[in-house]
Amino acid sequence: MTPAMTGKRVDRRWLSEAVRRIEADYNRSADTHLIRVDLPRYPGIVLYLKDESSHPTGSLKHRLARSLFLYALCNEWIGPETTVIESSSGSTAVSEAYFAKMLGLRFIAVVPATTAKPKLDAIRFHGGEIHMVDDPRTVYAVSHRLAAETGGHYLDQFTYAERATDWRGNNNIAESIFAQMAEEEHPCPSWIVCGAGTGGTSATIGRFIRYCRHDTKLCVADPVHSVFHRHFEDRSVVALPEGCASRIEGIGRPRVEPSFVPSVIDRMIAVEDADSIGAMRALSDRLGRRVGGSTGTNLWACAQIVEEMAAAGETGSIVTLLCDGGDRYGCTYYDDAWLDDRGVAWTGAAARMTQFLG
Ligand SMILES: *Cc1c(COP(=O)(O)O)cnc(C)c1O
Repeated sequence: MTPAMTGKRVDRRWLSEAVRRIEADYNRSADTHLIRVDLPRYPGIVLYLKDESSHPTGSLKHRLARSLFLYALCNEWIGPETTVIESSSGSTAVSEAYFAKMLGLRFIAVVPATTAKPKLDAIRFHGGEIHMVDDPRTVYAVSHRLAAETGGHYLDQFTYAERATDWRGNNNIAESIFAQMAEEEHPCPSWIVCGAGTGGTSATIGRFIRYCRHDTKLCVADPVHSVFHRHFEDRSVVALPEGCASRIEGIGRPRVEPSFVPSVIDRMIAVEDADSIGAMRALSDRLGRRVGGSTGTNLWACAQIVEEMAAAGETGSIVTLLCDGGDRYGCTYYDDAWLDDRGVAWTGAAARMTQFLG
């Protein structure tokens, strides 16, 4: 039974031990790298990639999962017998399964039936259970129902991402980026570019920039089939027409999520799926290792901003996120036949990005 439902208190020794295990895991971990990418065609402008693929569970969702567990634990929403539930298209559930196992808790991921097999394998690898739904729009309701039936706790990343993270510091992704930029020629980036799935990362970065009074602007790169950039232009738009879905895993949503905070975003750039895939391929060739699709979306938006900066005669730095590696997309984004079947014509965009990267 979830302690919040029964009104029972959580045993404080168990709670202390649970928090200690998560903090100890953090204490054993190194920070993620900030990779410098020189752009020979754009003198005086440098691109940086915050490499979130190097977390123990392979993506920026490792940070989110840690924050969501600590938030739930310190609210006494999770006790030693609590089943933990999440609605996730993959990466969040992989990271949460890792933390649930660390605490000895049962974990159930509610995923759309279309979720790629390597992600399901990774969830099961960390001891998580899978609950599949045919209609992706039902994941929220099904998660609530499972929580009620098992007396468990629904972590609800889409609601709590923006508030579970310590946005003023505590080595959140923004604080880490600014610390790692300190010795560069342009330590204060002109722009930081990221995507939005829950919206938690953009909320954290946008608030941190304002709190630290940096001049940096925040751009969110969004797939064309996502509601976020439409909502940014017109706050009355809160959902996409049925059947419209982002093909870039991890980012772009059909409904405006509660964790998406448009007021701290300076600009949004809509990116075609084929351009995201082309940019992803070009960057993978440049780095000598595969990156995920949302990293391609970010790079496409960065190229647009860099070209604008160059045209205006500006110099400076621009930072974006390498959100996850490409190993979970071998049978999809890195399979030419898979892309052909779906009509994703990416080669032109890849050639353009190869040129951009010099
Ligand atoms: C979740 C996710 C994002 C977006 O991060 P949010 O903080 O949820 O907005 C980007 N890329 C990948 C691969 C993700 O899994």
